[in-house]
Amino acid sequence: MKKNWEKATICVQGGYSPKIGEPRVLPIYQSTTYKYDDPDKLANIFDLKEEGHMYSRISNPTVASFEEKINQLEGGVGALATSSGQSAITIAILNICEQGQHILATSTLYGGTYTLLSTTLKRYGIEVTFVEPSLDVDEILTYAKSNTKAFFVETIGNPALNVLDFEKYSAIAKILDIPLIVDNTFPTPYLCQPLKYGANIVVHSATKYIDGHANNIGGIIVDGGNFNWDNGKYPELTEPDESYHGIRYYEQFKEKAYITKARSQLLRDIGCVLSPFNAFMLNVGTETLHLRMERHSENALKLAEYLKEHEKVSWVNYPKLKENPDYELSEKYLPLGGSGILTFGIKGGKNAAKKFMTNLNLVSLVVHLGDARTSVLHPASTTHRQLSIKDLKKSGISEDMIRVSVGIEDISDIIDDFDKALSLI
Ligand code: PLP
Repeated sequence: MKKNWEKATICVQGGYSPKIGEPRVLPIYQSTTYKYDDPDKLANIFDLKEEGHMYSRISNPTVASFEEKINQLEGGVGALATSSGQSAITIAILNICEQGQHILATSTLYGGTYTLLSTTLKRYGIEVTFVEPSLDVDEILTYAKSNTKAFFVETIGNPALNVLDFEKYSAIAKILDIPLIVDNTFPTPYLCQPLKYGANIVVHSATKYIDGHANNIGGIIVDGGNFNWDNGKYPELTEPDESYHGIRYYEQFKEKAYITKARSQLLRDIGCVLSPFNAFMLNVGTETLHLRMERHSENALKLAEYLKEHEKVSWVNYPKLKENPDYELSEKYLPLGGSGILTFGIKGGKNAAKKFMTNLNLVSLVVHLGDARTSVLHPASTTHRQLSIKDLKKSGISEDMIRVSVGIEDISDIIDDFDKALSLI
């Protein structure tokens, strides 16, 4: 089978190649378990000496096909699907970080991730330092510690929409000899492949554009296989794992060590597994990802251009607007489009924003993004509600900010709805 397909072809056909007489469409293997007749073969699978499914908390054929499709799209060496984006992020970090250790992160993260890092992981003894993304390399390096294990960032910050300077952040990670973990939810691998720009691990909330239709919660981790774990800082990958009869992941699996450990140790123990049905649905979603991302991006740019000319709008943020401070970065790292999220403020602040949202008709108010349907949200009172005023500012959120997830409807109908809602303020 040809391995170097273009991304659109991988979206449609990657991850599943039926043999003669097998179903053309990826089947839903709704089975928790798998039949064997030779105990030694099963023992070998348990020992990770042979590949094979033995229990669906660890792996399942439908889920494996979805994992392989996203792995191919990102250009990694292996992927692990999880029950949500949050569980993907949690496993991605816990796989290499434990009590008494430290990670660095940019401050412009999705609110749920910010809380996970600032509060929940802290409760388990993992310390996180958030840095303002535009700081220069030397200043960021002053926040690193001898026990820093990873740098966590988002390709496009939610909802600050700052585009990651991959060159700068991959250089910092290299200096510190730690992996760069990138949440690539907003662009998806169709618009940006972080591994090409020096990232080591990629995570997604598959719930968003990968699903694309607001049907399923899911997450995925992709291992770039491009980090040297044998640098003395990652004994969890180089030393024996007592919970796995002394296996040394790096010695046995080399560039697949990280993703093998994530599955055989953490997914096994924590159990935040993606169901076969959800994997099937996420796979169907991915089949049209390339088309949707093009249309989401095209519509978002048109809506941003419309809004910036409107007399009642005080500001618009979309990376593909030429006057946007991250326009150059978006041209460099997101050449195919800026994805479907934009933010804006209305003259009259928070109250005007609330009034505007109630005036909308076609566009709905939902806690979600990446859906085919256009939606709006007020981050300060919803997704980032737990953040203090100071942390809201650090995350790039103002009180008047409206976040729009621009869908793939006809743009004239989206603009018409915005126009009517603005005229009623
Ligand atoms: N990462 C980003 C950038 C997100 O926007 C979200 C959710 O909005 C998540 C992670 C968490 O994903 P999930 O809701 O699938 O757990």
